[in-house]
Amino acid sequence: MAIALQDNTRNEVAEFSVARDWHSDRRSPVRWLFSHVWHHRLHTLGILLGSLGNALGGAIMPLLIGQAFNSVNNGKADTHSLLIAALEILASQLVRSMLQMWRNFSSEIIGQRIERDVRAELYASLIGKSMAFHDRQRIGDVMARATNDVREVNFFMNPGLNMVLGSGAFLIFPVIFGARITPQLAIIPLLYVVFYVLAVQRFLNRLAPATEEVRRQFGAMNSTLAESIEGVETVKGAAQEKREIGRFTAAVSRWREASVRQGDVEAVYLPGLVLGVTLALGVAHSLLLYMNGTINVGDVVAFSGLLISLRFPTFATQFAYPQVSSGVASARRILEMMNAETLLDQNKGGHAEPMRGDVEFTDVTFGYGGKDDARPALRGVTLNVKAGQTVAIVGQTGSGKSTLTKLINRIYDADGGVIRVDGVDVRQWDLSALRRQISYIEQDIFLFSRTVAENIAFGAPGATREQIERAAHAAQAHDFISGFKDGYDTIVGERGVTLSGGQRQRLAIARAFLTDPRILILDDSTSAIDSATEDEIQRAMFEIAQGRTTFVITHRLSQIRWADVIVVLRQGRVEAVGSHEELLVQSKAYAQIFGS
Ligand code: ADP
Ligand code: MG
Repeated sequence: MAIALQDNTRNEVAEFSVARDWHSDRRSPVRWLFSHVWHHRLHTLGILLGSLGNALGGAIMPLLIGQAFNSVNNGKADTHSLLIAALEILASQLVRSMLQMWRNFSSEIIGQRIERDVRAELYASLIGKSMAFHDRQRIGDVMARATNDVREVNFFMNPGLNMVLGSGAFLIFPVIFGARITPQLAIIPLLYVVFYVLAVQRFLNRLAPATEEVRRQFGAMNSTLAESIEGVETVKGAAQEKREIGRFTAAVSRWREASVRQGDVEAVYLPGLVLGVTLALGVAHSLLLYMNGTINVGDVVAFSGLLISLRFPTFATQFAYPQVSSGVASARRILEMMNAETLLDQNKGGHAEPMRGDVEFTDVTFGYGGKDDARPALRGVTLNVKAGQTVAIVGQTGSGKSTLTKLINRIYDADGGVIRVDGVDVRQWDLSALRRQISYIEQDIFLFSRTVAENIAFGAPGATREQIERAAHAAQAHDFISGFKDGYDTIVGERGVTLSGGQRQRLAIARAFLTDPRILILDDSTSAIDSATEDEIQRAMFEIAQGRTTFVITHRLSQIRWADVIVVLRQGRVEAVGSHEELLVQSKAYAQIFGS
């Protein structure tokens, strides 16, 4: 079977990959972050040069002051030489500020661009994922990752990494310039740098689990929030507001506690403690060298100034590293979602002929829990439907009716057996060609907060107003749409009108008329509709079923009667297949329910 399992490194692991000119490196969070940073090379260069320039400018200052100090001390100072020293200081600091501006500008730009890139990358990845993937996600957590964690990636760059690089550069020059005064003077700053690197490594190791927990708890809190708002009607109906508030408060507390633990880790920052000792030892060292005549007073002044510039990397990074650590934790959460494997693949270049509409199930088994599901939703289903036939699927709730239809257009993939459309295994079809020619009208019809016309034309974005109206007429929807104040331009949902179940269903049927599929699936099992609209819907359904293979999941005898084939499902198995008359004779259960 040619189900290509994509390797989840560089490829898009999704059914539908969006073609892009550039691919990030998704092998690890750090690689991924740096591939995003390096994608903006020019600005990265700006940050690096700006950082070095700033640190160099900062280090030159004490050297120049030391020189001036020497001239004064030797009594050789005149206005001319001091003026030159002052001008040198001025010039070096001007260049430094300009580089600094370039650096901050680059950092800001990179931060925003990375955020934009990551948002687009994540969205493309999410929308391409299979239903099996989305079933497993909690919407609030997905939203937390898509909004908050993406933001953290921006902060990772700016101020995080920018500050780390910018202040890190300040570690280099005390060593280099100290050595230039006299090699021995490099010793203490060098020891400090070694200590600093080790201490930061330890700091980051301790921070990582803390920041990850903070991100995780934030996602959990968001899930709780999303779920209770989504289910607010149920909460109110059962008068469970108090308990839900309690649940949310508990989630908030867990997040707060995680943040406090991160704060505890941040508080123990050793370089801050050791810097004081380093300064004292360094100055003492230079004074000793002065006393034995190795260096002069100006050198002592210069070296002390160099040592003091170590303060910046020491304290700035206490705040920058937690940003970096949070950024990496967020990157891990984003990557986790993007790299999550889905077994479906788009199968570009697969079978993509115009569809006739023959559907054939051969010994199909499927469980939502995967191959090892102890209670599969479908077992050994075998079924043969000719192009153009209407199939009614009946059975109790949970018997697998919806599941059966979802395997036809590969919303899910069967675990065992084969499903063929026009004699071709659905897995050999180009997924996009397969789905374009199959329309699915779900149990819960989802309408976007857009105009009625846009909702109807959802699957056929190029449709004209005339075509849309014709589809609405055929779906018996034109009359109620005309009744709205803005007609076809009425906005649905949120701040627009709300539609009844029957109206939604007819919009969905109009949608299907426009896309003109070869196979149509109508999941009508739960709709409770008054009998006045019932007639209209029946007519619409009958209309749309003409000339295509139609699967109707229904309890309505009227629909069952005009079906060519009726499939009776029981606990995931096909219990009986036949026409209404045949089944009345063959199936006792069927006769009991429908044999009035
Ligand atoms: P019907 O449409 O006949 O009411 P379904 O096909 O929806 O039945 O469900 C068949 C079985 O699969 C049920 O036991 C149901 O609980 C389970 N099921 C349905 N959808 C999912 C899902 N997304 N994840 C896990 N189990 C599911
Ligand atoms: Mg169902």
